[in-house]
Amino acid sequence: MAWTEGESVEVLFRAEEIQARVRRLGQRITLDYQGKALVLLGILKGSFVFLADLMRAIALPLTVDFMAISSYGASTRSSGVVRILKDLDHSIEGKHVLVVEDIVDTGLTLNYIYGHVRARGAASVRICCCLDKPSRRQVAVPVHYKGFEIPDEFVVGYGLDVDERYRNLPDLCRLVRNPA
Ligand code: 5GP
Repeated sequence: MAWTEGESVEVLFRAEEIQARVRRLGQRITLDYQGKALVLLGILKGSFVFLADLMRAIALPLTVDFMAISSYGASTRSSGVVRILKDLDHSIEGKHVLVVEDIVDTGLTLNYIYGHVRARGAASVRICCCLDKPSRRQVAVPVHYKGFEIPDEFVVGYGLDVDERYRNLPDLCRLVRNPA
């Protein structure tokens, strides 16, 4: 499928497969957080589709908050510079925070967020990501729940973008840049 000249996408994981995986993650999280004050912390913008599905797969009372962090801009590689564009709206002191991220690449973003959330007095912090690219890791981050592991490929769809495009694709796709 070609949306933009010089680019095409190839399906990696279809919507049905993603939904099955998200349901399993939700069941595990439901078991692990029984009786705890759970906050899902979505990292904008990429995680919002995954978060919307995941929260409905968790059969527990919970609240949702968001943070936005500067990341790639128009490029497809991490700059390593992390800056808060939007902070938490509510206190997380004493709460059990599950950080929900679209994809863990170098780990720089989550490493920063993990420290930030711990410093705000959360009772516990865990990470749940839809995709993990372990071969790209520069800093170790503890990923407790993950959807899929992938090799070093640039992925779009299911909330993930390139220059804000492709977020609405229901499948997770590999971005292919075709030579002119
Ligand atoms: P990290 O700090 O782990 O290098 O980067 C995490 C962020 O980089 C993700 O939240 C995402 O916004 C972006 N990112 C990393 N890999 C990809 C990718 O394959 N596709 C897209 N669309 N974004 C990515």
